[in-house]
Amino acid sequence: MTTLKAYKYRIYPTKTQKVLLNKTFGCVRVVWNHLVEVFNQFDRNQIEQLQPLTSTQLRQKFEWMREVSAAALQQKEIDFKTFKKAYFSNSRKNKIGRPSFKNRDSRQSYRLPNQKFTVNEKTIRLEKIGTVKLVLDRAVPVGCKLLSVTVSKNKCGQFFASVLVECITIQKPKTGNRIGLDIGLKMFLTGSDGFTIENPKFFRENQAEFKQAQRHLSRKKKGSVRYKKAKLRVAKIYNYLVNQRQHFIQTKTTELINCYDFIGIEDLSVAGMLKNHNLAKSIADAAFSEFYRTLSYKAVWYGKEVVKVDRWFPSSKLCSDCGWKHDNLTLSDRVFECLACGLKQDRDLNASKNILQEALRVSSAIRTPSEG
Ligand SMILES: [Zn+2]
Repeated sequence: MTTLKAYKYRIYPTKTQKVLLNKTFGCVRVVWNHLVEVFNQFDRNQIEQLQPLTSTQLRQKFEWMREVSAAALQQKEIDFKTFKKAYFSNSRKNKIGRPSFKNRDSRQSYRLPNQKFTVNEKTIRLEKIGTVKLVLDRAVPVGCKLLSVTVSKNKCGQFFASVLVECITIQKPKTGNRIGLDIGLKMFLTGSDGFTIENPKFFRENQAEFKQAQRHLSRKKKGSVRYKKAKLRVAKIYNYLVNQRQHFIQTKTTELINCYDFIGIEDLSVAGMLKNHNLAKSIADAAFSEFYRTLSYKAVWYGKEVVKVDRWFPSSKLCSDCGWKHDNLTLSDRVFECLACGLKQDRDLNASKNILQEALRVSSAIRTPSEG
């Protein structure tokens, strides 16, 4: 099975690049509007129809069009062909309307095919524009084929690059297992069936080293040789930390996806994350959001289900056996004791069982009847 997925990133062009991007939007619009104009002049009584100029001819005619990417203009021609095919197709159930002209208030965007751009962790290289800074909040998974990129600008003047990729996936065999996962600081994850993932030691060990290197750097004179050396060391440790974290996340998510068909997981408070000044906690939180993201896309790829439980759901306070609510439970209570049915069990285990139940409830609620 192949899946098409789009990864949208905020990009930060320079002043000059912005001018050029705006010019590209404009030229692409000219190509489109020219095609629409000729299309509208179609006369069924004429034998010889008016033919639109190709983007190459337009570029020859208008010198200012030569400044922008030829591929972007060609892509617009391809888009118009696709539109025409859909317009004249009889098999389409929903007829689409006639093409309309675009102006400055229309969506500002253009597309480039895969040979005309490259992406890495920090930048995207676009034909004719050059290297543009980018914020890679979720990386394109390894093994995916890049198809195209759509560069756009929103009303606030912010620029984006949306990368379309094709991934080949093979459904994993069903195991019939379901699990609820509770997130913790001591245990990275506690599962409702006793499965646990410990917080990896290297998080803490490397953090100490990282902090020390940072302190070291802060004492050096900016621009000095020692400063540069110290800075490189900080960067290296950080890189190492990220790679280790990545490895940990990849291994553990694969393990979960292999073992379980259904995974209920506690939502993480994003607001809480931003407020956090504690390095250890913030790194653990970052690891968790990365973990959740990876788990979710792997579930989609391999035909498994991951369901997030609302962060306001009182997973720790409910008795997983009878549903009694322990309103006075404090953070220091490591064992959950039910005063209604007498259940006594580990606090996180109890929470993870509630998370599984709640996730199953949410999942059946969002599923439409036809899907069973
Ligand atoms: Zn109970």
